[in-house]
Amino acid sequence: MEKMHLAFMEKVDGKRDELIALTQDLIRIPTLNPPGEFYRDICEFLDKRLSGRGFTTEMVRAFGTPGDSDKYPRWNIVARREGRHAGECVHFNSHIDVVEVGQGWTMDPFGGELKDGKIYGRGSCDMKGGLATSIIAVEAFLETWPDFDGAIEISGTADEETGGFGGVAYLSEKGFFSPEKVQHVIIPEPLHKDRVCLGHRGVFWAEIETHGRIAHGSMPFLGDCAVRHMGAVMAEMEASLFPALAAKRTDMPVIPEGAKQSTMNINSIHGGQVEPEAGFTGLPSPVVPDRCKMIVDRRFLLEENIEDVESEIRDVLEKVKSERPTFKYDMKEIHRVIPTMTAKDAPVVSTVAAAIEAVMDKKPEYVVSPGTYDQKHIDRIGRMKNCIAYGPGILDLAHQPDEYIEVGDMLDSAKVMGLALAELLTGNPAAN
Ligand SMILES: [Zn+2]
Repeated sequence: MEKMHLAFMEKVDGKRDELIALTQDLIRIPTLNPPGEFYRDICEFLDKRLSGRGFTTEMVRAFGTPGDSDKYPRWNIVARREGRHAGECVHFNSHIDVVEVGQGWTMDPFGGELKDGKIYGRGSCDMKGGLATSIIAVEAFLETWPDFDGAIEISGTADEETGGFGGVAYLSEKGFFSPEKVQHVIIPEPLHKDRVCLGHRGVFWAEIETHGRIAHGSMPFLGDCAVRHMGAVMAEMEASLFPALAAKRTDMPVIPEGAKQSTMNINSIHGGQVEPEAGFTGLPSPVVPDRCKMIVDRRFLLEENIEDVESEIRDVLEKVKSERPTFKYDMKEIHRVIPTMTAKDAPVVSTVAAAIEAVMDKKPEYVVSPGTYDQKHIDRIGRMKNCIAYGPGILDLAHQPDEYIEVGDMLDSAKVMGLALAELLTGNPAAN
């Protein structure tokens, strides 16, 4: 490795305390989503940090997107630093929102406590640790190679955990992720420091409703039970649909192993009377339920198309209909995401892969995420194909109690990110 690269890696190690402090500061802003709290605060914090280091920043509120209100505005920040000469732009995109805390914590979820080389807190792993890592990587890069070509962008975006409509989708619509403006995108989601994540599976959510007829519960034969109809739907799913999905295998390198097939989760079922409020001590009234609703969450593969995904579910419903004379149903789509996978020979992939090898002395693993993240919007709306997720942290810890990020992993990832910048913006690959 060249002297400059070694000097850069030392510089990153020298920023260990700064990296810890930055990660802690970010965790201590409790940007819970829903409802989408403190977005403005975290954007102002990032604005102060990055404009103090020569970045031009832009705060963008995603007016009118789901959840946006004056009480809970959807704020985003995009910071850009130009190099000395024309060239390509490398963009690091991190979401600023975190999911609910949930039960079972032994640490303060917004304390950012450091213990045994790990920083604890909601969002530490997913993905404020990744955001802090990219900032430290970029700052160390700027100190080492001030004379770089092109531009570096860092964004902090809202609402990834709830679909990204007030975040990356909105910014993509406004042209922030067009191929004319940005040439390489790295999303520091917690996929592990030695893995390059090429993309994600697709999503199809549908609401299925069965209809019946209300009657007195003592004479159910006078009515038509919508819950029994839904039971028949579930029985048919067990008999034909689930086995068919399990038999579909993908060539995408999806992790974990179980997600290399098509999957479907029954997200919820509601039939009959609404559940009484807590504390209500009365009895339900005796009626035959006249409707039952189910939400299904189907995850699909690059090899499948969404029309088939929908018609497979519809086939189940039609089969049940042919067997049950009074069966009536509706099915409506409520959410869709097309799968995406960046080519393994795309420039950002090969550059980050080479940097992983240089820093960790091992070949990277190429993976695809079982669930989606903001790459979908960068691909579909932004038309940017040269995009990956790469960042420190263990995916399994995301959304769990006592979520943490290891400081050592962040330092390694910061080195990878900086060496990738060196190759893309100074033409100096780490390994030669
Ligand atoms: Zn995330």
